[in-house]
Amino acid sequence: MKTKFRDASLEQILANTTVNENGCMVWNGTKKNGGYAIISLGNGQATKATRIVMSLMGYDMTDKKKYACHKCDNKSCINPDHLFIGTSSDNQKDHWAKVKAGKTIRGGFRHGVFHIWKPTPWVPVED
Ligand SMILES: [Zn+2]
Repeated sequence: MKTKFRDASLEQILANTTVNENGCMVWNGTKKNGGYAIISLGNGQATKATRIVMSLMGYDMTDKKKYACHKCDNKSCINPDHLFIGTSSDNQKDHWAKVKAGKTIRGGFRHGVFHIWKPTPWVPVED
């Protein structure tokens, strides 16, 4: 079941979460792509809950190049205090810094070769 929150207030959206021990407000609704909180827009489309939260916080999220990034690395978290606005390249830099710090790694097979994600395109893993 999808959660329709198109006309919801920030309070209503944040009420649909469970706060964990890190203070993360973990989304109780639909999740996609490895845990990202998703809000149905009611027209067959859905968007990341973090984008809606940040726009309700007063940020202009109509620019698709702006991302709501997590400080806490919990994809399901929509706590406004745990989010920051970044551009695509900020997000990748942030991600790559975490990869280098050994915190997280993202990759996958492309054309039969395992690639890891770096700030610039997918780079084949060499041994
Ligand atoms: Zn969090």
